[in-house]
Formats: sequence, structure tokens, C-alpha cells
Amino acid sequence: MAAYDVIIIGAGPGGYVSAIRCAQLGLKTAVVEGRDTLGGTCLNVGCIPSKALLHASHMLHEAEHNFAKMGLKGKAPSVDWKQMLSYKDETISQNTGGIEFLFKKNKIDWIKGWASIPAAGKVKVGDDVHDAKNIVIASGSVPAALPGIEVDEKTVVTSTGALEPTKVPNKLVVIGAGVIGLELGSVYSRLGAEVTVVEYMDAITPGMDSEVQRNFQKILTKQGLKFIMGAAVQGVETKNNKATVTYKLKKDDSEATLDADVVLVATGRKPFLDGLGLADLGVELTERGQIKTDSHWATNVKGIYAIGDAITGPMLAHKAEDEGMAVAEVLAGKHGHVNYDVIPGVVYTTPEVSSVGKTEDALKAEGRAYKVGKFSFMGNARAKAVQQGEGFVKLIVDKETDRVLGCHIIGPGAGDLIHEICVAMEFGASAQDVALTCHAHPTFSEAVREAALACGDGAIHA
Ligand code: FAD
Repeated sequence: MAAYDVIIIGAGPGGYVSAIRCAQLGLKTAVVEGRDTLGGTCLNVGCIPSKALLHASHMLHEAEHNFAKMGLKGKAPSVDWKQMLSYKDETISQNTGGIEFLFKKNKIDWIKGWASIPAAGKVKVGDDVHDAKNIVIASGSVPAALPGIEVDEKTVVTSTGALEPTKVPNKLVVIGAGVIGLELGSVYSRLGAEVTVVEYMDAITPGMDSEVQRNFQKILTKQGLKFIMGAAVQGVETKNNKATVTYKLKKDDSEATLDADVVLVATGRKPFLDGLGLADLGVELTERGQIKTDSHWATNVKGIYAIGDAITGPMLAHKAEDEGMAVAEVLAGKHGHVNYDVIPGVVYTTPEVSSVGKTEDALKAEGRAYKVGKFSFMGNARAKAVQQGEGFVKLIVDKETDRVLGCHIIGPGAGDLIHEICVAMEFGASAQDVALTCHAHPTFSEAVREAALACGDGAIHA
């Protein structure tokens, strides 16, 4: 069998990006992928299909709720669910096909099948054993199970089943108010489902700025999603393609039930390491079952590296991609770098929600003095022109130095706007640097500048 400089296990955003960078740096590279298509969770059953459905359902929402105000009259379109699924599938295949093209262009071998590592320097796929100077594990993650709840991917589904139910459910119960649950909950709510989100914590999207959490929940509630907070799901019973969810409220221990056509279990994901043979190799794991790595993404076994959802850190495609590029640099004898303090997080609902860096809660806990500059999208001309004046930009800076420490946005284009602040943070910029940068009018980005101005002498349009 061929001998490689690097074999990467898994062709998700971590693995495929790493392979391309390895090849660009002159390393003979192969990727083992067990799925029929490249792109991993993200392209096949994650980021991309969910965004296609979010887009399609958003278009329907616009037609139903906002067209008439703009003088666009006529019957709102009806939902052809099969066609919407085809649109989603077409989006997936365009993207996965694109990765295949890039593999060919960069002379990366795709070894099809499921890999194990019989020893450092060896990767076994089927009966073939391939040699590699270095191995990168980029095997990603799968939905985490909720004890006592059986997933059949029809009535009780994970995010994978929620991307292709046979029809739009009348009643959807989402267990877990994290990013995936809220994005998919929004899709089906816009398509006409009655959506109830049951969450154990008292706030949605754990870890986010608490002001954003409250505002976001209010907006989603106005859009029709129902929330049952502080509720521990006790079990889900299924009968004749229907489900009953039993939950207990933490505040008074009272029990109640909810009927559903589909129950989406969206309570998190866990690393997928099955079949790799890591225990026999002695690869160390964390208590949460993630592969332990050092600052160069090396495991404790020489020549074996790991990246992406399989290791610690936020389970995000761009974090996996950055690690993929960085580990390639390390393997090529260069310096690989990921700044874990500046990894943005985005929720692709309408409005979008995004965040980077420190929250106020975190800074309070650290006892660090900070200032907040806030600007509402109601004061942004472009947002009003597109009927998206809800939300705000909240910039958090060091009280003494004015250096940007974090930013939290809820509003139009939040997922793109956040990157101005990511760049500012990478360059150690102050709010004044952002405020002194000319921003085109009329753009949503002016709201970011206004928030920066609000950290100093004051916003103009507030
Ligand atoms: P994965 O993408 O999970 O890829 C791992 C690949 O390895 C898989 O294809 C698997 O088949 C393969 N593999 C595993 N073991 C083996 C083996 N032994 N042999 C061969 N192949 C193997 N993140 C974002 O940043 N933005 C989003 O908008 C977003 N939306 C999401 C929506 C949903 C519904 C879901 C489920 C996830 C979403 N994510 C999003 C998370 C994102 O998909 C993951 O963080 C990302 O895919 C992780 O990349 P990865 O390369 O580490 O692993």
C-alpha cells in the first residue's frame, strides 16, 4: 500500500481543510472517509442543510409577513416539502462535490471506508494497511443521547432526522434550547408547526451574554415558539407515530406532558471515536471522552494528532478548520496557530445572533473593570429599510485601555458583522479604532461603529 506523509481520518471541515493545507505545503496526503460523500457532519447533516432550510423557510416568512407592507401583494407561496428537501439536498451535493474537486486539484487521495489505527504510523481500512509518517484524527462528533430516550429518527429524532422528516410536523417538541434546537425549531415554526422548546436551564443558548439571551428568547416567542424553561425531561413515549414528552419543572417538581408528532433531541454532541482503536493504542482522553492534545494538537502517542469536534473546545466547523490548517503547518515543520480567545459563535435564526470574546458575566466573575457600548438596530437606517430593526450591538471594552474584549450582536447580518470585531480583537484594537474607521452608509455595520462610539463620547443616532 502507498506510504503517505499524512493520513487524515475524517473529511469534515477539520479533516478536509487540513488535507488541502498539507497538500499545499508539499506533503503526500490521504484522507479516509467512511461516508459516501466528503464534508463530514457540517456539509452533509449539519451547517449546510440547516442553512438551506433556514433560508427557504425565511423566504416563506417574508412572503407571509413582510411582502404586503412593501406593496408586494398576492397569495403567499405554499410549501412543497419534497421540493424543499430537494433544494436542501442539491445544496449539499454542490458543496460535497466541491470538496471532491478540491481533493483532485490538490492530488489528495480519498481512501473510502472506515479507518482504524493498529499502531502509530499505520492506518487500516478494510483489509488494507497504509503507512503514514503522521496521522491526524478528525473523526468529528455525533448527537449525544439523552438517557432513557430512544431515538428512531422518525418520531424521536436527532438533528440528522430533523433535516428530513417525511412531512412538516404539526407539533414539534424540541428538547434543548441550544443553537441546533433553536435553528431547526425556527425552520419548522416558520413552516407552520407548533413548536415547543423544553430546556433544563433558565436561559436559552447557554454561555451567551445574558442580555442577548433574554432578548433572543423574547423575539423567538413573538415569532411563535413556546418555551418551557427550567424543565427536566423525564421520558418520551411513542405510539402510532405520535409522542408524549413528560417533563418535571425544577421550581416545584410538578410533572406535565406534551404531545408531539416529532420530538427533536438537541441536547448536545459527543466526539465520535468508535472503531479507531484508541484504547489499545493508549491515546489519552478527557473525562468527557474527547481526545487530549497539547498546544500543537499532538496526542500522547507520537505521530498521532487530533483536531475538531473530536478534541476539546467549541464544536464549530470554523474552529475545526482553523485547527486543520494549523496542524498541517505543524506537520510541515512550520508554526501553527489558533487564537481560541477569538472564535465567533453564530445562530442563524432571523434575526441572527453572534458573539465573540468575553461576556459581561465572565468579566464580572473575573473582577475586571469594563465599559459597554450599546447601539440598537432601531437607530440603523438600513435595518429599518429592511424591516429588521430588532436587536442591538453590544461592545465590551477594557475600562482603562479601551481595548475590545468582546462583542455580542442580535440583529440583521449579525453573523457577518461579528468579523469586524474578530479582526479588531486579533489586532488588539480599541473601541476608538473601530469608531474612527469610516463605515459605509447605509449598512448594518454602522451599528457596530455606533456601539464603538458609545464606548467613548456617545453614539450619534442613539
Ligand atoms: P465532522 O464534520 O463530524 O466530520 C468527521 C468525519 O469523519 C465524518 O464525515 C465521519 O464520517 C468521518 N469519520 C469518523 N470516524 C471515521 C473513521 N474511523 N474512518 C473514516 N471516517 C471517519 N458548526 C458551525 O460552525 N456552524 C454551523 O452553522 C453549524 N451548524 C450545525 C448544524 C447542525 C444540525 C449540526 C449537527 C452541527 C452544526 N455545526 C455547525 C457543527 C459542525 O457541523 C461541526 O462542528 C463540524 O462538522 C466539526 O467538524 P469535524 O471535521 O471535527 O468533524
